[in-house]
Amino acid sequence: VRAPLIIGNWKMNLDVVEAVHLTQQVAVLVRADPPEHAEVVLAPPFVDLRSVASVIAADRLDVGLGAQHANPHESGAHTGEVSVAMLRRLGVAWVLVGHSERRTHYHMDDEAVAATLRAVSAGGLRAVLCVGEDEAVREAGDHGAFVEAQLRSALAGLPVGARESVSVAYEPIWAIGTGRTAQVEQVAEMAGVIRGVLAGFEMGEARVLYGGSVSPANAAELSEGGAMDGFLVGGASLAAESFLAIVRAADGCYAAKR
Ligand code: PEP
Repeated sequence: VRAPLIIGNWKMNLDVVEAVHLTQQVAVLVRADPPEHAEVVLAPPFVDLRSVASVIAADRLDVGLGAQHANPHESGAHTGEVSVAMLRRLGVAWVLVGHSERRTHYHMDDEAVAATLRAVSAGGLRAVLCVGEDEAVREAGDHGAFVEAQLRSALAGLPVGARESVSVAYEPIWAIGTGRTAQVEQVAEMAGVIRGVLAGFEMGEARVLYGGSVSPANAAELSEGGAMDGFLVGGASLAAESFLAIVRAADGCYAAKR
């Protein structure tokens, strides 16, 4: 049983002032009742990273800093993009790779996902590889094969030594931001599929997270029955209370299972 990892993906929300405010609220709640086991990561927009890092450092907060994306190139003519080295310099330790919103709206194909995963690992940061099917794929019953193909394509070119820096987030697209959480049985089934692929890459120790309308109301149930090692949280991470309620649910379930 792996200690849970809970990542707040703020997406394109919160300007720098709002981001600092939310980080301070998270700090108050974490200090008042620190999670015993769960690892907590905040992934704000690029422009907020430095300020959020400052609050984390000033408060000596046991919270990691994540980025929502990175460009796989080292430097050069990539207007509007941000490199792994730039993120590392800011104190970023985690990078989301291939979030479905990047894949769907910004043409990030499997090749770009694989290249980004390699760059993040080579740059010494920890990657959270996001996979998940859309509604049509699920209705056709092809979700297992689809997610397996996404995983294989991303992991195939990764040097063996880089594998331990990778976690996986299973995020069915139909559940992201919709309020339609996957059922516990669906999550557990996909945990099995993903673990099967990871075993083939000798990545049995990798964490597998769930994401998709996770909330304080469903976090305990998903933690208990979903066979996942934590959550990638979008909407509910934009309020400190709901984010910390999810952290505590995962933390409590882990403590009970140990
Ligand atoms: C996400 O963006 O990764 C996500 C899971 O969003 P939400 O929790 O809002 O569904």
